[in-house]
Amino acid sequence: MIEIKNLKKTFSTRQGPLEILKGINFEIKKGEIIAITGFSGSGKSTLLGLLAGLDRPQSGEILYDGKNLNQLSEPEAQKFRAQNLSLIFQNHYLIPHLTALENVVLPLQILGLPFESQQAENLLTQVGLGDRLNHYPSELSGGESQRVAIARGLIIKPLVLLADEPTGSLDTETGNKVMKLYFDLVRQNKLTSVIVTHNQELASLCDRELKLSQGMIAE
Ligand code: ADP
Ligand code: MG
Repeated sequence: MIEIKNLKKTFSTRQGPLEILKGINFEIKKGEIIAITGFSGSGKSTLLGLLAGLDRPQSGEILYDGKNLNQLSEPEAQKFRAQNLSLIFQNHYLIPHLTALENVVLPLQILGLPFESQQAENLLTQVGLGDRLNHYPSELSGGESQRVAIARGLIIKPLVLLADEPTGSLDTETGNKVMKLYFDLVRQNKLTSVIVTHNQELASLCDRELKLSQGMIAE
């Protein structure tokens, strides 16, 4: 379970402090798929970045199964992130000089975990890319690249898959296909996921929608 308690985030800008999150509270149960929606600039990516531990809040807590993310030292936090959190962005951020297969096993290699490429092959097959294992990102379409990124996110069996506008760079039809697959895989693997999206159709497929507005959640 993930607990978010009174989370506040302020950016300092040349015009003075900019309070983006003004006390966010919510919980995510294991296996839930949550949509975070809201207008552009409402703080969705800021919130996801805090959940991912990429940035720190001014105050408030993020608890993963009771473990307070922001009380970990930087090396501990790094390890926790690598072992438990997978991130999927609008752009796939695949490593250009690695094949699809090599990109998918990379998180395990970074963790120094023993792995068999069969695991990655299976995942790539599940995302419909069993015949693209040795393709480089430049040889894949946008939708295919995003599916590789999903497979890469799944390989560590994360505590939570965090996705920021995962279909933002895809056309509607491709985006819908990728997300159908995403939902199938998340549910099959009983994973927990938080998806930032301004796509209302996508949000309605999630178990719950949290709307960010004026720095607060208007559920
Ligand atoms: P969303 O993802 O909902 O479109 P963001 O979370 O990216 O919105 O940004 C929320 C607001 O915070 C925006 O007004 C943005 O300009 C501001 N912001 C985001 N990051 C920073 C930063 N590092 N410094 C100053 N302002 C920021
Ligand atoms: Mg954003």
